[in-house]
Amino acid sequence: MKAARPLLLHACCGPCMTVVCEQLQREGFVVTAFFYNPNIHPWKERERRLQALTGYADSKGINLEIDEEYPLEENIRMLLDAENRCSACFKDRLTATADRARELGIENFSTTLSVSPYQNQSYIMEAGSAAEKKSGVRFIYRDFREFYKESIRISSEARMYRQSYCGCIFSERDRYLNLRSPGEV
Ligand code: SF4
Repeated sequence: MKAARPLLLHACCGPCMTVVCEQLQREGFVVTAFFYNPNIHPWKERERRLQALTGYADSKGINLEIDEEYPLEENIRMLLDAENRCSACFKDRLTATADRARELGIENFSTTLSVSPYQNQSYIMEAGSAAEKKSGVRFIYRDFREFYKESIRISSEARMYRQSYCGCIFSERDRYLNLRSPGEV
């Protein structure tokens, strides 16, 4: 039997948390979830995702750490200045997770982001490795995409809030602009 290992899991939302947490627990990790997502715009959307996550964590008895800061201007500036917006966004969130893990004395960290087929796995790996190097906390990368459909099933059955865009205001625009019918403004 494997020894229990503590892990801080960066969690973007409730639906992604469901299967990722379960898989990591199966591997013997003792998971504490961490919500740090200043990239979710606007505030109400952040609140909806956080509520879904909190409800799930409570129902499963999972410890949840929440970063209450919401540096909107700083986040938008960072995304605007970045050469690669999503890469910068992952780096910001995974660096914060690794730093928090170090503060808490947790020796591993991971993220729910890798369950999504819409996210770039190379950027996630790069961001996690960079945060590991900087913090000394071990990054546990897993490609969880095979469980994505299962996360939809579980969250739909639980009537959990599921977002319709990635997070930042730019992704919201891209999502709905692409849905717009011809001639619509
Ligand atoms: S699309 Fe998603 S991952 Fe990319 S910058 Fe926006 S919130 Fe971050």
